[in-house]
Amino acid sequence: MCLPLAAISQTANEEEPLDRPKLVVGIVVDQMRQEYFYKFHDRFVEGGFKRLMEEGFMMKNGHYNYIPTYTGPGHASVYTGATPSTHGIIANDWYVRKLGRTVYCAEDSTVNAVGGSEQAGHISPRNMLTTTITDELQFATNKRSKVVGIAIKDRGAALPAGHLGDAYWYDGKTGEFMNSTYYGETLPDWVIAFNKRELPEKYLGQTWETLYPINSYIQSVADDNEFESPPIGKEAPVFPYELSELMENNGGLGMISGTPFGNTLTLDLAYAALAGEQLGKRGETDFLAVSFSSTDYVGHAFGPSSIELEDTYLRLDQELAAFFAYLDREIGEGEYLVFLSADHGVADVVRYMQDERVPAGSLNTRFILTQLKGYTNERYGEGDWIENFSNEQLFLNHSLIREKKLDLIAMQEDIAEFLLRFDGIKETYTANDMRHREYTLGRKSLLQMGYNHKASGDVLIINDAAWLTDSTRGTTHGTGYTYDTHVPIVFYGWHIQPGSSSRYATVTDIAPTLAMLLHTRLPNGATGQPISEILDR
Ligand SMILES: [Zn+2]
Repeated sequence: MCLPLAAISQTANEEEPLDRPKLVVGIVVDQMRQEYFYKFHDRFVEGGFKRLMEEGFMMKNGHYNYIPTYTGPGHASVYTGATPSTHGIIANDWYVRKLGRTVYCAEDSTVNAVGGSEQAGHISPRNMLTTTITDELQFATNKRSKVVGIAIKDRGAALPAGHLGDAYWYDGKTGEFMNSTYYGETLPDWVIAFNKRELPEKYLGQTWETLYPINSYIQSVADDNEFESPPIGKEAPVFPYELSELMENNGGLGMISGTPFGNTLTLDLAYAALAGEQLGKRGETDFLAVSFSSTDYVGHAFGPSSIELEDTYLRLDQELAAFFAYLDREIGEGEYLVFLSADHGVADVVRYMQDERVPAGSLNTRFILTQLKGYTNERYGEGDWIENFSNEQLFLNHSLIREKKLDLIAMQEDIAEFLLRFDGIKETYTANDMRHREYTLGRKSLLQMGYNHKASGDVLIINDAAWLTDSTRGTTHGTGYTYDTHVPIVFYGWHIQPGSSSRYATVTDIAPTLAMLLHTRLPNGATGQPISEILDR
């Protein structure tokens, strides 16, 4: 049946616009374990982390599904829904054979600083090979949406903002937020005005004392101990930290990164971005991607059992509560969509675990490389057979191997076997294994999800659980063990019903879930799946 013309146009006019939230706020907490929701629960205020737990939908068994669990790959994976094998951000820094040097995940020599200092400005998302959910939102709205990425770390801002969005990061040298010519020739007025407030100077003029009386921090080990790494110029890792005195020998204005006030400063800029860009108030869906870097710096120096870390989370919790209350007022409760995750977890400090009689240790790479040099020289003749060792991967000298007409694959196998004799090395795999086999179980499958055919090494090492590489005080992350992989995946707000699930989910499911909620395409390399518990209720 044919409708009269008038009826057709009326139908079109009355059509409801596509249902989308006013604003999406993506939060990545750098180095946050899922465990922290519970460990610090009793001291969280109403309205912060607890609001996400109680009023949001939480995937309680959310994991990273690749190795290595570092910041660059983490942010790229959350936003692309892919793993490093596809999006190409295979580490924070990695060795590039043809350049004969290490490259940084967000480096871009073709762009220059805008604001800040020149060295901090050669940054863009170009090394990330696939689209982000933020890119897809821009394509879905023909770029009427605005995307703003904010973090202390450049990679924590530039990768989430994607190829089409705007990103701002902190320059520890000048104390300013900045970006690069990738994004334009000048900073927006609101960023310039923000920098003029000189907040880093103000925050570093204070003393970092615990938020509550120090003896009430019963979830952490004693303040003075041998596990933590104090700032330069301070004998013991104990409160209070006189920041104005310590900053001179600890990176100047860059020292704010290693204090909870780096998170405060990040949120200060988020408020300025919301107001300056009128995010969520323009009749289009906007996206604010915030990454809190300071939790990572504090975590590295003091470890997950420290009062310093607990205090950093209690402060972030209060600041998030104020932030959500602000969004309620400005955007409207239920009108904005939030997700929170982390770029990786963290290992416990080795000596702390050893003191508690849990098997743990530290690999001495210098010792291993010396032994390996002796072995390869004896077996293959004098030569620099090992070109690079980084990110638990060995790069062999391919040109020397070709010149001597040796069999590369046999040599990979031989060295992989040799490395198994060292305490703390659990499994080794060769590039040939990664290319020609398909692993579906265990940590070797995680290794494969992080393996890039062009850029990864010849021999790949998996340490025993709780074994770090060259660790003294403090700690790190990067493995496929649960302490590094188990992170928050929680959605809250617009169209999200409260609830939780203990089903295994991965961080690469976040972007596909957002694509369903926002009615966009899936990011082009996405391998994760939409979380049906959240969507189909
Ligand atoms: Zn880290």
